Amino acid sequence: MTVQVGVQSYPLFIDGKRQPAAGGETFEVLNPATGELIANVAKAGEADVEKAVQSARDAFDKTDWKGLPPKERAKRLHAIAHEIKVHAQELVYLETVSSGATVRRAAANDLTLMVDLFKTMAKFVLDYPFSETLPSAPFPGPSHNFVWREPIGVCAAITPWNMPMLIATWKIAPALAMGNTIVIKPASYTPLSTLKLAEIISKVVPPGVINVVTGPGKEIGEALVSHPKVDKVAFTGSTEVGKTIMSLASGTIKNTTLELGGKSPNIILEDADLDLAIPGSLFGVFLHSGQLCESGTRLFVPDKLHDEVVKRLVALTKTLKPGNPLDQATDIGPVISKKQKESILSYIKAGKKEGATLVCGGKELTVPGCEEGHFIEPTIFTDVTNEMTIAREEIFGPVLSVIRYSEVDEVVELANDTIYGLAAGIWTQDVNQAYAVARKLRAGVVWINDWHMLRNDAPFGGYKQSGIGREMGKHSLDAYTQVKHVHTSMVPDLHKRSWYQILFSNSEQGEG
Ligand code: NDP
Repeated sequence: MTVQVGVQSYPLFIDGKRQPAAGGETFEVLNPATGELIANVAKAGEADVEKAVQSARDAFDKTDWKGLPPKERAKRLHAIAHEIKVHAQELVYLETVSSGATVRRAAANDLTLMVDLFKTMAKFVLDYPFSETLPSAPFPGPSHNFVWREPIGVCAAITPWNMPMLIATWKIAPALAMGNTIVIKPASYTPLSTLKLAEIISKVVPPGVINVVTGPGKEIGEALVSHPKVDKVAFTGSTEVGKTIMSLASGTIKNTTLELGGKSPNIILEDADLDLAIPGSLFGVFLHSGQLCESGTRLFVPDKLHDEVVKRLVALTKTLKPGNPLDQATDIGPVISKKQKESILSYIKAGKKEGATLVCGGKELTVPGCEEGHFIEPTIFTDVTNEMTIAREEIFGPVLSVIRYSEVDEVVELANDTIYGLAAGIWTQDVNQAYAVARKLRAGVVWINDWHMLRNDAPFGGYKQSGIGREMGKHSLDAYTQVKHVHTSMVPDLHKRSWYQILFSNSEQGEG
């Protein structure tokens, strides 16, 4: 893999061009695995948000971008997929050094999904019902009726630091597929891959269709989501910030989609194949050091299997190799920052204080060659109850809570006893039992004998406080369109119009 040499400077990306921030300020981006400075990035202020939104507005209002025929739009989406492939190595590198994603995951998973997402959207666009003709109806009488689906306009996307480039594409791809324009504000820890992505995409779309502003969420994020010229907001991040965003977006009644936190229940049933369920459950919770919203952080284990499951979980966890995420041999990378590390350690402390038993990990880790990085041992607690802080709050770190249960009805109740509803999982060899339990789980995705298996043609999003709306799948296209009903009466005689008699009961006298 090509390794970037020295500290790079990254300007904003507005109107198809790299541009410095109006105030001339920058902020630093550090490698979470080594603590090294990797980039100085332009720190946008309100003037830059204004410029980016105006550029997106003009591209929407004044160019033919929104009216491209589906065939041409599909062609552009395929061209974007191609450009991502061409720049794969650089994108994977930027993602790895800024977010701490292992290079194995970023290359094999994220990049593959991104390329496929644009191709999938291209396919959907060709089939999308942009205009539907309604059948004739007795009321209001003979008429031609269409339902047109149109782009919403200027979209603001605010993205998190955990999977920055993949999550950015979940917003960019459907927005562009439907003819919208977009301004993205990536997380301040991880803006690099999104800036690169915008440059790549701008090769195949008009200037202003895609813009990126970088800087503090509290300032420019809020300016963006409350901007009167922004029509739609798409956010991924914490539930707390999601609530602020929803409230700010309500000021101008913006269409809003939110993909928020999770505390996903992972249920091992008594007949589960443990050779699959044990590694599968660890993959579900420790991928990306647990910094994934859909991680299976509450593992429900039946009394009968409890001791064996715990023994095997601990033994397998101890084989995971922490290291620099750029190293192909690394299984577990860093967490994003010192602040995040401290937050995770404080949850581990709370777990011990509230009576859970620490059976694995629990401490920060020093990785040779990465002494300034932020690593935490994959951690497992047993004797956890669903009321404990570690079972209720999103830790966003490599911490698994094992919770015992005895009956299936009881475990369904415990699984649903959370404010979140993003994902859930079931391990069993009885498919009927699996579907019966899946029906009862209040979550946007249920994996049976698997975890983290996101597909570009399947919707992803949360029940309850895990969010509103869906990303990926055909449903995501609906989230970036609005519908218009167009009616033309086919009744030439005024007196036969259904509305005539309603208002003009005395009209005969006045006519003629
Ligand atoms: P945030 O929700 O604060 O950040 C997500 C994005 O929102 C970032 O781009 C951030 O910008 C931006 N932002 C922050 N505040 C505002 C605001 N007031 N208005 C508009 N945009 C804003 O996540 P954190 O980074 O603080 O992480 C905290 C916790 O959130 C984690 O520990 C985890 O529990 C959860 N989280 C969940 C994610 C998920 O996928 N569900 C993803 C990330 C975090 P900036 O980076 O500049 O602050």
